[in-house]
Amino acid sequence: MDYQQIIEEVYQEVQEENQRGKVATYIPELASVNPDQFGIALVDLKGNVFGVGDYQVPFSIQSISKVHTLTMVFHVFNSKLFTRVNVEPSGNPFNSIAQLEFEKGIPRNPFINAGALVITDALCSKFQKPIEQISDFINEISGKNCVSFNESVKKSEQNHGERNTALAYFLKSYKNFNNNIDEVLDVYFSQCAIEMNCVDLAKSFSYLANDGFSIFANREILSESHARRVNALMLTCGFYDEAGEFAFRVGLPGKSGVGGGVAAVMPHKFSIAVWSPELNEKGNSVKAIKALELLTDKLSFSLF
Ligand code: GLU
Repeated sequence: MDYQQIIEEVYQEVQEENQRGKVATYIPELASVNPDQFGIALVDLKGNVFGVGDYQVPFSIQSISKVHTLTMVFHVFNSKLFTRVNVEPSGNPFNSIAQLEFEKGIPRNPFINAGALVITDALCSKFQKPIEQISDFINEISGKNCVSFNESVKKSEQNHGERNTALAYFLKSYKNFNNNIDEVLDVYFSQCAIEMNCVDLAKSFSYLANDGFSIFANREILSESHARRVNALMLTCGFYDEAGEFAFRVGLPGKSGVGGGVAAVMPHKFSIAVWSPELNEKGNSVKAIKALELLTDKLSFSLF
């Protein structure tokens, strides 16, 4: 399988089609990114890297970090974690607060903001230096010191963080939040402000394509059954209220972020990261989704 040739064809076709969206503006700092950037990196399970376009340019991974933090706490709390957060697609916007009341303070899944805040709260209960440890963890599974925190993006989100702050207080009112709210929010805004390029991001997802074992860290990151569950969550909940559409068009477990990145895996074959900042109205990168759709069509395999 000539992955390099395939991703180059995909890149070309997406560029020619030139579908446009809008860069996220609710975090003002994200609005200053050059919207024309577009990169793809695919990493196979031998560690070979294939890349095209702006695949070496670091970008804000935002919600993609929710997969990393979930992984960090999964083996610590095991199934207990899922007494605090459910595993159902939300069908609502990622920052919805209404659903949380109907569900009595148990967020629908770990990838919407309310659920991710519960995960970061859990992480803060077990890790003494959470921000440093998140960075160490992602560096380890990427095989390289690649994580940097964009302090301007973090501040920008902090200054406009009313919604996430409200979610945290709401969770606390249901006793589903154990630590100091400001401290947990600080960790959450930091993890969202992580910058990485497509290659390192794809590498950091490689264990999910490989039954939980990272060839870059050279150790089991998750058990095979936990890795399967994270993939199931990505497939059903990884794309905000467009997860069904993504499964329909692409058919790979993945996670997107409002920085325009998408990381996805083809179990037992490869992990891939695609980035282009312009988003559709659901908050997913227009070009990244198109690229992954073309990719699975050309490969003529997906999960299904
Ligand atoms: N930092 C963003 C927020 O909490 C992440 C959103 C996303 O990428 O889905 O609103």
